[in-house]
Amino acid sequence: MKYYSTNGNSELVDFREATLKGQAPDKGLYFPVNIPELNASLLSDMYVLSKEEIAYEIMQPYIGSCINKNSLQDIIAETIAFTFPLIQLDEDSYVLELFHGPTLAFKDVGARFMSRCLGYFSKLHSKKTTVLVATSGDTGGAVANGFANVEGVEVIILYPAGKVSPVQELQLTTGGNNITAFRVNGSFDDCQAMVKTAFTDADLNKALQLTSANSINIARWLPQQLYYFFALQQWPEKKISPMVSVPSGNLGNIAAGLLAKKSGLALNKFIAACNINDTISNFLETGKHNAIQTKMTISNAMDVGNPSNLVRIMEIYKSNPDIIKTILKGSTHTDEETADTISSVFRGKGYLLDPHGAVGYAALKKELKEKEKGFFLATAHPVKFPATVETITGIKLEIPDAIKPLYALPQKMTDIEPSFLALKEWLLNR
Ligand SMILES: *Cc1c(COP(=O)(O)O)cnc(C)c1O
Repeated sequence: MKYYSTNGNSELVDFREATLKGQAPDKGLYFPVNIPELNASLLSDMYVLSKEEIAYEIMQPYIGSCINKNSLQDIIAETIAFTFPLIQLDEDSYVLELFHGPTLAFKDVGARFMSRCLGYFSKLHSKKTTVLVATSGDTGGAVANGFANVEGVEVIILYPAGKVSPVQELQLTTGGNNITAFRVNGSFDDCQAMVKTAFTDADLNKALQLTSANSINIARWLPQQLYYFFALQQWPEKKISPMVSVPSGNLGNIAAGLLAKKSGLALNKFIAACNINDTISNFLETGKHNAIQTKMTISNAMDVGNPSNLVRIMEIYKSNPDIIKTILKGSTHTDEETADTISSVFRGKGYLLDPHGAVGYAALKKELKEKEKGFFLATAHPVKFPATVETITGIKLEIPDAIKPLYALPQKMTDIEPSFLALKEWLLNR
């Protein structure tokens, strides 16, 4: 498989090159030259295949000959070594729980896959890769965990001081020796600006093989389509294609779902479930995308005003707005609605949602019509947002076993001012 840049001014590359570069040189996003079509027998066999088998069949065409069969099978097995349960909540709605990975958010899958691919490539080419990533919380934890002790790869994470939750900070700062966490005396936007400048800095690019671990990286983005296959493997309503509601920010997760649908997976419409930082609804109405200044919400992983993966959605549908409109819908939800949803689902069904999943559930219930059924993605465990969830429900959350050992580990972080030069100095002179 070859990948082109969505800006159209970079050379075609293979999977390895696209992963190592992260972003294309013309600052576009990499996209596969063709979307593989699933053959009918794979679709009908899906219910009897293991999740590892189906995952291999889906991912292999995207990787081509860049990773040999046995290694790719191992990488995939490690990537998805936990459960993805689909649970019924109402007559017409189900939840796909994506928070059973080591850092309790769906980003584990992409981070684990990408880290292992980079580890594989660095073994073959003996050049060390430096992964640079800015995080508002969940991405950094998943990346720190996924890349811990992967040989030939070092990871530099920038996070804003005082703006991540205690559990998130533990996940960021207790990683392996190849992980460096910078606590930036500034905002998430400062962190992101430092990282973006680094990718365009000639001195740094000469000295280091730099790549990004955000969902712009193809190796983080592509495996996210697997969730939708795992959901359909468990989908009990064989005669009804499910509506899918995806809590959305940068639109990486939903774009991966649309890719799966385009390959032939029997999914009905998609809902981009957003908080008030919704730019997609307006885009679908007007055909024009306007970036907005982000506002803070209680579903903060979705506080994105200029979603980078919108271009990938456009590519999937060859930029035809009329087709996109028949498949995708936006849905906006305020913090008040989110809190009411967490509260009513907890009281009515004894099921605890995190603020992101709650937006997904509210959007699904709003859009489902009579005779339709669907599922939404629960993208994070409620314990990652204890202050919000405990205030709304009045209960005290238990620390899950996956997190407990972190409290015993020493936290390592380096304080830094929000200055690109300070970061550059450190990277070049250590
Ligand atoms: C990252 C994240 C999202 C948003 O996903 P995108 O792929 O950026 O749209 C939603 N929920 C949680 C918990 C996240 O961490």
